[in-house]
Amino acid sequence: DILLSDALARVKPSATIAVTTKAAELRRAGHDVIGLGAGEPDFDTPDNIKEAAIQAIRDGRTKYTPADGIPELKEAICAKFARENGLTYTPSQVHVAPGGKPVIYNALLATLNPGDEVIVPAPYWVSYPEMVLMAGGEPVIVPCGPNTQYKLTPDALEAAITPRTRWIILNSPSNPTGAAYTRAELKGLAGVLMRHPQVMVLTDDMYEHLVYDDFDYWTIAQVEPGLYDRTLTMNGVSKAYAMTGWRIGYAAGPEKLIKAMAKVISQTTSNPCSISQYAAVEALTGTQDFLEPRRKVYQQRRDLVVAGLNACAGLHCPTPEGAFYVYPSCAGVIGKTAPSGKVIGNDADFATELLETEKVAVVFGAAFGMSPAFRVSYATSTEALTEALSRIQRFCAALV
Ligand code: PLP
Repeated sequence: DILLSDALARVKPSATIAVTTKAAELRRAGHDVIGLGAGEPDFDTPDNIKEAAIQAIRDGRTKYTPADGIPELKEAICAKFARENGLTYTPSQVHVAPGGKPVIYNALLATLNPGDEVIVPAPYWVSYPEMVLMAGGEPVIVPCGPNTQYKLTPDALEAAITPRTRWIILNSPSNPTGAAYTRAELKGLAGVLMRHPQVMVLTDDMYEHLVYDDFDYWTIAQVEPGLYDRTLTMNGVSKAYAMTGWRIGYAAGPEKLIKAMAKVISQTTSNPCSISQYAAVEALTGTQDFLEPRRKVYQQRRDLVVAGLNACAGLHCPTPEGAFYVYPSCAGVIGKTAPSGKVIGNDADFATELLETEKVAVVFGAAFGMSPAFRVSYATSTEALTEALSRIQRFCAALV
């Protein structure tokens, strides 16, 4: 028998990847499946970025690089933080890794000792608690329900902090809810954190560029300079620049932490793909002109999806500020019976039954730590969304 580690035994596989895989299987079997499960832009990577990668290959930039990123990219990241967030960093404060996901994991591996606690507001991105567990820490889940627009409040934060708290993970706009923190809300959380100097802040700003209705985007180190010395401001090119497959994420923070993260990456993956790094330099320093039209398209889709879901019997969908997800409650359909005879006992049943009868893939809320709800990704074509919404409406109307 193969013996597995105790650390891994506590970890769940990614539910979002599982849903995407199941939908792909049904599609291969000939079914007309609409996937609203994956968190991936349907837009293509812009041509100037592709060209920069092709040029990097032609120039022979195909070798090992410094493990945590080339100097040109670190400079470009510092310029991005200065330009877009009013934050001053030097290249020695920057970490680049093969995606935003490993940036977070490297930070946790570099800092957690057994028993150390990491506060994770729920609904959370599926990987946070699992990465904390793999790094030997203890996730402390703080439920943040619809009454607070799925956001953490200062009181809830204060109540969750203990002497063992090492990190709080913030994610704005949020995967899975799309909720984003206003400057005043961040100020409120920062006020609590200023009283607890042992707590470091990991802010996942992956969806920064996807905010709607003139929402004014702020990140916490900018709102409270007093937290600058213990904040890791994380971001990446995957979502904003439609570069999920290129695998480049980055973060900036205190030099001591960045050095420790460099040690982790140097003994694990080594450098992110050299070609992707040159592409990311172009993403961050080249034209930003395509961001605004794409943002507008996402906003139209959000409005379409929120309206369509609110027209479904038993569903209730708030209008979030950003990302490309919505997180409707399905409390109104729990206990009902589907035409198959199956009773919808929880949100996993809802998602399974919806996929099997109407061939629409969504991710059930339990995967994100808040039920009964489900996540819809609207990073897909308007035609596919329109068809999916009419199928969900039909599905809900058929429940008795
Ligand atoms: N953080 C959040 C909130 C995300 O939704 C994702 C991707 O789904 C990531 C980080 C990871 O991004 P990457 O693909 O760059 O690893």
